[in-house]
Formats: sequence, structure tokens, C-alpha cells
Amino acid sequence: MFLDKEFLFTPGPTPIPDRVNIAMSKPMIGHRSAAFPVLLEDVSTRLQPVFGSDNPVCIISGSGTGALEAAAVNTIEPGDDVVVIVGGAFGDRFAKICEAHGANVHRLEVEWGKACQPEQLEDFIKSANKNFKAVFATYCETSTAVIHPIKQLGEVTKRVSDALFIVDGVSCIGGVPADMAGWNIDILVSGSQKALMLPPGLAFVAVNDHAKAVIKNNKSNRFFFDLNRYFDAYDQKKSTPFTPAVSLIYGAQEVCRMIEEEGLENVIKRHELLKTMTREGVKALDIPLLTSDEVASPTVTAVKPENGKANEMKKMMLDQYRISLAGGQQKLSGEIFRIGHMGYCTPFDVLTVLSALEMTVKAIEGRDVLGLATKRAQEVWAEHV
Ligand SMILES: *Cc1c(COP(=O)(O)O)cnc(C)c1O
Repeated sequence: MFLDKEFLFTPGPTPIPDRVNIAMSKPMIGHRSAAFPVLLEDVSTRLQPVFGSDNPVCIISGSGTGALEAAAVNTIEPGDDVVVIVGGAFGDRFAKICEAHGANVHRLEVEWGKACQPEQLEDFIKSANKNFKAVFATYCETSTAVIHPIKQLGEVTKRVSDALFIVDGVSCIGGVPADMAGWNIDILVSGSQKALMLPPGLAFVAVNDHAKAVIKNNKSNRFFFDLNRYFDAYDQKKSTPFTPAVSLIYGAQEVCRMIEEEGLENVIKRHELLKTMTREGVKALDIPLLTSDEVASPTVTAVKPENGKANEMKKMMLDQYRISLAGGQQKLSGEIFRIGHMGYCTPFDVLTVLSALEMTVKAIEGRDVLGLATKRAQEVWAEHV
């Protein structure tokens, strides 16, 4: 079978639009040239609405974890008490980063597949009775495909504590709403290779003025991730302290153009549609989903087939149809597979993955389900205006 085309449905990295690839192949420019500050300022400010940030978005070379580490090391000092909401592998990573930098981490454990309820956070902060420096939350917990109620968690954080509210938006910013001021977010971070439809390699950090002041006074050891260096370089010469990933920033400029052309509101609506098509399609196959509709992420869906068939299905999807999905992480390993539907993803892409899933289910379970998932997803699409 001729199957030269690969279909990338992992929740990062994600497919890159051709026009973004073309933008990234522009001739190299020096980062101390006259052209670079124009590029950096353009991208940093055009990303502001995507992050809901009042300040230009700081761009660091690195993966998403670099952005998480930058947020942690610039705010916490050894011995600080912090809350980390842990409802999956990425909440766990945030906790480990904070621990590595000497924080006294209080883990608010949330059942995997569930979202943290605002009352849970309120009770946790009140009963701990500590002067918390920061509350760390994950907007989309990619490992469980859960979206957390960030607005409500931010409201609680500010009502019952003086803590900074720091949010990992790596796997959803660019596909979901974000409003730092309205939602009490002090720092919102993301990475390039998820909903922002770029290759891996850029870490984004959006910071409000309150967090900027905290970062300025922070005494912890850091160098490459010292955000003060990035703020100073930007303020003084619209540049970066170290050699930036210029080609990726050209790509980010093209991504900003694409988001503006579609309209951010429409981008967000499209991700809602992709989510609903995916979920309704899988439901039409009688295969359980890990999460409820209420907490389901618009950018990734976790499917939990019975009898532990997750890995077998994932393997057949790749071997037979060249569809790349993600498996489960840590305690969900072998229990689920995950379909990413973020960034450069259209309703037709969802129909592709669902039609392959129908054939896979038929082959593995012997159930004649051909056409069921795609039909249901097409109905959802047709209803969407
Ligand atoms: C992918 C991801 C990260 C880590 O990003 P890397 O680029 O792999 O370092 C962090 N948080 C979330 C929620 C993610 O999905």
C-alpha cells in the first residue's frame, strides 16, 4: 500500500502550515542587525492577544519545559512555600521543577482525568495556612486531555492568598481563550510545537507588571533563564540577550498572520468544533473517553478503550494508516491513546483520524462500525455555524 503521507495527530509536535515553513526558510539575518528588532517587536506584540497579555510576550529559545523552568526559577526562592496543582504528568513536572529549585512544594493532587475544582484549591490553601509564594496550575493537562477552570482558580488564588498565579498553557494557548488580567494570571507560558503550529524550539513567557516586579527582586541563581535579561534587552533594543532562534521567530510571525486572518475568536471556535467532532465520533463507536464533556480539552482527546486495547489500536493506526497518535503517560501508560487536534487542524483532519479508527476497531474487535464515527462527526460539523 502506498502510504507516503504521514498524519501527525500527536498533542505536540503538530503539523506545520506550508506558509509557515516557507516563512522559516527566509535568508538568515543577524540578531544585532537593524531588521531583527523589527521582527521581534512585531511578533512579541502580535502574540499579546493570543496570550491575553498586557505586555509583549517574551520569546526564549527552548522547549516548553524551558518556559516552565523560567517561570519557576524567576519567582521562587529556596524555602518558599508553593502550591502545585497536580492532575497529570505536566502538573507533576511543574512540581518537580519547583522542587529542583528548592521550593517547599505542596502538591494539590487531583484525580487524573478530572479537573481541579475551585473549592478544592480554596480549601487546600486555607487549611495549609502558609504564606504561599505562588500557585502553579496547568491550563490543559495534556496527559489526561483535561482543561482546568483557570479563571476560577485564579479568582480563588487572589481571594484567599497573596500568591502569584502561574499557568502552564503549553498545549492550548493558540487554541483557547486567555485573559491574564481578567483571570488573575501573573505568568502564562507556552511552547511553539503545540497549538501554535510551529516546530519545537520556542518557549513563550507572558508576564504582568506585578510578576515583573517580583522577578526583579528575586535572588535565586539563574543565567540563561533570567527573565530580567530578556526584559532589559527588549526594553533597551528590542532584542534578546542571547542568539535567538531567528527562523522560528519568522515562523511565529506567519502564525500571527494566520491567526489574525482567521480571527482569534474563530480559531477558538474551530478548536471547540474539532473537540466535539472527535468526542462524538469516538462515542459513536462505543469507545469510552477518559474525561467528561465538561472538562474536555479543545486541543486533545484521551480515548480509553476497554480491555486495555489502547496500545494495540495506536499501533495499528500507525502501521496500517500512518496516523501518529500519542499513548498514555506514567500511570495512564497502556490505558489510553490521545488524539491531538490543535493548531493546523481542520474538520477534515478529524474525519481522517476517525475513519482510520473505524477500520482499526473493525479489525481488532470485529465490530462493523464503518461509517459510524465519521457520520456522527459530519453531523456535528454540519450543525456548526
Ligand atoms: C508539551 C508540554 C510541556 C513540555 O513541553 P516540552 O516542549 O516537551 O518541553 C509542558 N506542559 C504541557 C502542558 C505540555 O503539553
